[in-house]
Amino acid sequence: MEAGVNMTMPDEQILARGRELLELIGSASRSGFGRGGWRDWLLNWSMRHERLKRRMFSFIASLPRADTPQAFGALLKGSFTGHDDAPWLLRVAVQLACFTGSFGLRMLQPMVRRRAEEMARRFIIGSTQARTVENLARLRRRGFAFTLDVLGESARSDVEGERYVRTYLRLLDSLGAVQNDWSGLVSGGQLDWGAAPRINVSIKPSALAVDGDLSTMFDRAGEIYQKVIGLGGYLCIDMESLDLKDATYELYRRLRTDKRFGDWPHLGLAVQSYLRATESDLAGLLDWARTQGVCISVRLVKGAYWDSEVAAAEARGAQPPVYTVKADTDAAFERAAVAILQNSDICHLACASHNIRSVCAVLETARALGVPENRCEFQLIYGMAELLGEALLQSAQRVRLYCPHGDMLVGMAYLIRRLQENTSNESILRQEFDPAADPADLLANPASELF
Ligand SMILES: Cc1cc2nc3c(=O)[nH]c(=O)nc-3n(C[C@H](O)[C@H](O)[C@H](O)COP(=O)(O)OP(=O)(O)OC[C@H]3O[C@@H](n4cnc5c(N)ncnc54)[C@H](O)[C@@H]3O)c2cc1C
Repeated sequence: MEAGVNMTMPDEQILARGRELLELIGSASRSGFGRGGWRDWLLNWSMRHERLKRRMFSFIASLPRADTPQAFGALLKGSFTGHDDAPWLLRVAVQLACFTGSFGLRMLQPMVRRRAEEMARRFIIGSTQARTVENLARLRRRGFAFTLDVLGESARSDVEGERYVRTYLRLLDSLGAVQNDWSGLVSGGQLDWGAAPRINVSIKPSALAVDGDLSTMFDRAGEIYQKVIGLGGYLCIDMESLDLKDATYELYRRLRTDKRFGDWPHLGLAVQSYLRATESDLAGLLDWARTQGVCISVRLVKGAYWDSEVAAAEARGAQPPVYTVKADTDAAFERAAVAILQNSDICHLACASHNIRSVCAVLETARALGVPENRCEFQLIYGMAELLGEALLQSAQRVRLYCPHGDMLVGMAYLIRRLQENTSNESILRQEFDPAADPADLLANPASELF
């Protein structure tokens, strides 16, 4: 583990690989987030209008609850009238709809909801079991593996926790019934890339039990895991906010070593590089795996709860548990990747990032260390960084998309998180698709920015 900290990053190779990926993405496509259309226009446009963007996102988040023409009218007015930064077309439409009263609102409401749902569909693989299974098969035909995530977090009751488990069990039954129709990606055999199960699901511990109760989380995750093992699949445990971190590590260790599950190696844990504690947590996990004599799998991410972790720490008057300089998180991501890759005999790595520098650092470090290809894969979120996904597919092949399934009501909160991520100033997505962005800046070593 120590050696990981000392390794010099193969920067020239990272730069060369990064330029190759940027080339594949193509300068023409770098004029926007994706393939164009009104959804990309809205994202690009909202980035230029920060205050309006916040109102727009809060409007979209509140849409599912505004289910009468009156509630919809009040939401529209509150969001877009009296603010002169809204585009004139939007202001006229709002005024017209409000002026014509419930008739106008009745006309406008379903149109707006449809548009919002269309936007959510960009990030959600399906709302029904049949549609989800069909769309996952379609993704596989394009060469992408998947990990399926049922939308939902923070169970408020046992009923919700149970419902979350049942949804997985039903989806797994449907996937099990069709998985033999899919041939393995690249290798053509039963497994993807020669080593990875075709069925792969991700779960959120907070959705399993009220208040993160560990023994309930273990029982419910165990039910899902048992089914996954029966199908020869893979289960990943997502990492959420800091208050659940230790319980999530413990859940992973218990599942991985419980006799009932045999020595099934396809169990993964997400680890967040933005947490200052991660370096030692990860070292502890790798040491534990060696001592136990088990193989483990880590999905390395930067962390999705940065704003709330900082706000919660500020409210307590404490130092944030996360880095507050973006380059620190990026550099910690690279150090953690090195640590895992140096232990590739016992730890499989899933590199989950849309950042070309971070992805290339993993690709080139793995190559420099002689890590076998099947010990490392790349993951992106469905609907995000699509051009990077396709470029990676050509360049590295082993690409898995994180695909949420669920209904639109739960999906709206998820959609807003994705929109915020797409349009935040710190986000690499915003910079990678800026035609004026300098490749040297995009691919710069984060560690060198810290001095
Ligand atoms: C397949 C997949 C699965 C994921 N699963 C999880 C999961 O289980 N748990 C989870 O928490 N997240 C998860 N994420 C989300 C992930 O943590 C990131 O939020 C997201 O991928 C953006 O990081 P990036 O490397 O793609 O982009 P970048 O733009 O390079 O990084 C953005 C990230 O940098 C960090 N950051 C932003 N501003 C600052 C700052 N001022 N100081 C320090 N750090 C900062 C934040 O973590 C932010 O998300 C997943 C992502 C993917 C692709």
